[in-house]
Amino acid sequence: MAETKASGKPVPRVDEESKGYWEACARHELYVQRCRDCGTVRYYPRALCPTCLAADPEWVLSSGRGTVYTYTVTYQNLAPGFRESVPYVLAYVELEEGVRLLTNIVDCAPDAVRIGMPVEVTFDDLTADTSIPKFRPVS
Ligand SMILES: [Zn+2]
Repeated sequence: MAETKASGKPVPRVDEESKGYWEACARHELYVQRCRDCGTVRYYPRALCPTCLAADPEWVLSSGRGTVYTYTVTYQNLAPGFRESVPYVLAYVELEEGVRLLTNIVDCAPDAVRIGMPVEVTFDDLTADTSIPKFRPVS
């Protein structure tokens, strides 16, 4: 069972493959991985390249900028920590580095979100050492 904070939202489970990623998020830095052998950029963090299966990727600091690839507005969620947040926007954001991540669009009315909208990363400080990357419209 995942640890939760006072809000009731689950805290990500950190493992050896994702440890560096979550430590960077806590510093409000978003990193992706790049294969040292074939150059494939990947997100989420994992040990082996999905293209060539090479190990030992390098970490690349993301610009934190991207666009909304697709999204949905959640109006019903009875799970603790989420029911208080509806309606909220669940989205795939495509980063400038070419990878997509599942996230939330924040600081924006749900009906104002559009596919292709430019967004930038912001961090939700879930606990003292856990921050979740979310995205807001570029102002
Ligand atoms: Zn590779």
